[in-house]
Amino acid sequence: MSCSRRRFLRDALAAASALAVYPAAGCRAAWRRPGGFKEFEPAYLELEREGELAKREKELWAIYEKCQLCPRKCEVNRLAGENKVCEATNELVVHSAGPHYGEETPLVGRWGSGTIFFSHCNLRCCFCQNWEIAHRGDGGPMSHGRLARVMLALQERGCHNINLVTPTHVVPHIVRALRIAIADGLRLPLVYNTGGYDKLETIQQLDGVVDIYMPDFKFQDGELSHKYCAEAGDYPQVAAAAIKEMHRQVGVLETDERGIATRGVILRHLVMPHNLAGTDRFVEWVARELSRDTYVNLMAQYRPSHKAFEYPEIARSLTVEEWSRSLRWAAAAGLSNLAR
Ligand code: SF4
Repeated sequence: MSCSRRRFLRDALAAASALAVYPAAGCRAAWRRPGGFKEFEPAYLELEREGELAKREKELWAIYEKCQLCPRKCEVNRLAGENKVCEATNELVVHSAGPHYGEETPLVGRWGSGTIFFSHCNLRCCFCQNWEIAHRGDGGPMSHGRLARVMLALQERGCHNINLVTPTHVVPHIVRALRIAIADGLRLPLVYNTGGYDKLETIQQLDGVVDIYMPDFKFQDGELSHKYCAEAGDYPQVAAAAIKEMHRQVGVLETDERGIATRGVILRHLVMPHNLAGTDRFVEWVARELSRDTYVNLMAQYRPSHKAFEYPEIARSLTVEEWSRSLRWAAAAGLSNLAR
């Protein structure tokens, strides 16, 4: 997580309270005003009109009964309040929400990205800079109706999208709240902002629901993801399959006349000390398996945090040479759409 995101989180609880009391009335007009969307129609509206979104919602809730929503396949009954690796039960817990200006430029535009931070996480990286929310579960319970009102309040404020941060373990809740918000006039694109440890079948359920996927692709080596991400040794294969499916659904990033993202994949990769993230292999994979035009954000902001100090090799920041080398690898792979 970048410093700007940490600052955002500090301020966001207050913002979330303010958002929660924003009136839903008037939301239908919000997307027509300057900074809102005029002709854009998010993919989920058609699914809802066809009755397909209701069907998907029902199927997603059924997965909670023997939870296999993510690749961990814990098989606990979350509907009965059980939990396991992600520590999330059937209760929706949200840390904060508000306009965020520290995300990628095509998401931020003039009025910010409408960011909602869900508590808990299924990947549990030892170096998480967001560990209070992702590991400890800081946040408060939120009803589906209130989550829908938060989405609408973000739209009312002119945000350019609904940015769902760490959504993997709460997908059924998101679809429920989305359907309530659709009925009250939500028209913004959904951003699925994930660590990349997503089950292929769950991503397939989101075909036509999500407009913009923003996954991380953190590791290319399963021994390292096993070591640093709570024994997720299959992360490289799982993330590769999920990201390819995301790309199949929405393609490379599209923007409107203002440069605001409307559809596509934004792919993130956190460069790590000693090239532990396998940046050279990552950029080659993008060029080979997706497209050289893929919007890629190579991130230089790695800082040791949480339990990273228990591993000497990741207990420092990047060097300038490590960062320069990563940029050279991206250029050599022919990536033509790096975030600036
Ligand atoms: S979503 Fe949580 S409970 Fe369900 S399989 Fe993944 S880690 Fe386990």
